Amino acid sequence: MSDDTRRAEIAHNLVEVQNRIAVATVLAGREVPPQLVVVTKTFPATDIAILAELGVRDIAENRGQEARRKFEECSGLDLRWHMIGQVQRKKAASVLSWADLIETVDRLELADSLHRAATTLDRTVDVLLQVSLDEPFREGRGGCRPIDLEALAHHAMSLDALKVRGVMAVAPFPGDPDQAFDRLAKMVHALRDSVPGLEVVSAGMSGDLEAAIAHGATQVRIGGSILGARPLVQ
Ligand SMILES: *Cc1c(COP(=O)(O)O)cnc(C)c1O
Repeated sequence: MSDDTRRAEIAHNLVEVQNRIAVATVLAGREVPPQLVVVTKTFPATDIAILAELGVRDIAENRGQEARRKFEECSGLDLRWHMIGQVQRKKAASVLSWADLIETVDRLELADSLHRAATTLDRTVDVLLQVSLDEPFREGRGGCRPIDLEALAHHAMSLDALKVRGVMAVAPFPGDPDQAFDRLAKMVHALRDSVPGLEVVSAGMSGDLEAAIAHGATQVRIGGSILGARPLVQ
């Protein structure tokens, strides 16, 4: 595929997704649409360059090594990089080298490791707390148990190198995203009483962005609907 064809395809898809977001925002009775974050995992840096030209600023990746390579390839572009994959504690320093926002802080130990790594670099790092919406809870899928979210939030807030900006979640699959994001909205509501400054609710992907926006997502993470199908083996 030529660069021009790819550019036209991405531009077309981007407008369609922006329209879906606009419609969902109106239907939700909201005035401000959520921030669009484009998930570029498995796609080349040339696609990220096209997205940047089309005005996209927020890019998400889920694997440290791949992300870091693309981050370097895109060094001239003014982008904000989101980490949306699971982070191993020993990779805390490495993820700080490229990510502006780490959306997947889901355990106390990881919060501690990120805090230590950021402190060593004499900087702070923006984070979201990931909560699991799986019922029953499934170990290893990422996200803390809902019952542990408040304790995680208080712990992360006590670490001065971490700036806790909000919460992130993935709807269960298969499952009803509407029901799952309704539970998420209630958790966020409960948490806001005791944790100030929780502005970001990162929820919604290609298949369920409407449900997420209906339940208050301030940020949606869209891959396939903009960039096309990913290879099955990632
Ligand atoms: C891959 C991924 C997305 C994007 O999913 P699409 O269905 O391609 O839009 C969003 N969030 C997370 C955490 C992901 O891993």
